[in-house]
Amino acid sequence: MRVSVTTTLHEAFNISHYLCFVPQVLGFEVDSINSVQFSNHTGYSHWKGQVLTADELHVLYEGIKLNNVHHYDYVLTGYTRDTSFLEMVVDIVQELKRANPSLVYDKSTHFFPSSPQYVPQNLYPVYKNKVVPVADIITPNQFEAELLTGKTINTEKDAVEVMDLLHAMGPDTVVITSSDLPPRLGDRFLVSLGSQRHVHPDGSRTTERVRIEVPKVDAVFVGTGDLFAAMLLAWTHHYPNDLKTACEKTFSVMHHVIQRTISHAHDLAGPGRRPSPPQLELRMVQSKADIEDPAIVTEATLI
Ligand code: ADP
Repeated sequence: MRVSVTTTLHEAFNISHYLCFVPQVLGFEVDSINSVQFSNHTGYSHWKGQVLTADELHVLYEGIKLNNVHHYDYVLTGYTRDTSFLEMVVDIVQELKRANPSLVYDKSTHFFPSSPQYVPQNLYPVYKNKVVPVADIITPNQFEAELLTGKTINTEKDAVEVMDLLHAMGPDTVVITSSDLPPRLGDRFLVSLGSQRHVHPDGSRTTERVRIEVPKVDAVFVGTGDLFAAMLLAWTHHYPNDLKTACEKTFSVMHHVIQRTISHAHDLAGPGRRPSPPQLELRMVQSKADIEDPAIVTEATLI
């Protein structure tokens, strides 16, 4: 299985490692293109580096194509703020899909920061009209799911309707990574919902929907969205018609990585002090065994 990965513009550098490391550990061959090369992610006080332009991306793609090695099974891309870069990604994905019609495109992580005032207005139509229609897997948060569909989520039923609307826009797999829905397990949990359309050999269609609750940790991590998308891509490859299992594996890995990271961060920060961004860098390499074979710690319920 070959995967092409474009890393994120926003969160760069170490994040590119998540997008590559996870599929590699799980046995995928990965070609990666760094959409930026930054000193560190932008959650730090300072960062320096270069941003790849749409033309530069095209040059790299031309090189791959000239060698006739543009036959990918999966494409995974991260966040970008630049409209022309995003449009180039869509053009390339469309061409790769012509080379391999069963190619799966996973639009990793979030389209927008989770607050309306930060949404760059020129990006929104490109996401809605160009990116989402070619994407097979999307992992929006509640805000993005609402923005893309124009429907507010107040209940689980609303969430199901929103996921159906998102399916109608293109993607067969939708996971809303976090929501404001009330958790059944208590305040310190986070509710996520997933939906997957299955086409059966006789042509009939069904939709599998799941709800999952994970413990919330009082810290802001950078790169969890990318890690999540890379895991979901890998586990939906291994369990193509079983969203429940793919989600249980994905959310369980997230749990193990986050717990390992927060406990290490508290050790570094010392008693009573809030960990800093470098202390909160996700403990990826240390979590290799969990990525490969996660102990299931969270059960998804079918809804
Ligand atoms: P990002 O904002 O980095 O894109 P998300 O907020 O979408 O990441 O999180 C993706 C997944 O990571 C969530 O579904 C959840 O499983 C996990 N996650 C992220 N932050 C936390 C947290 N503070 N506590 C628990 N889980 C978290």
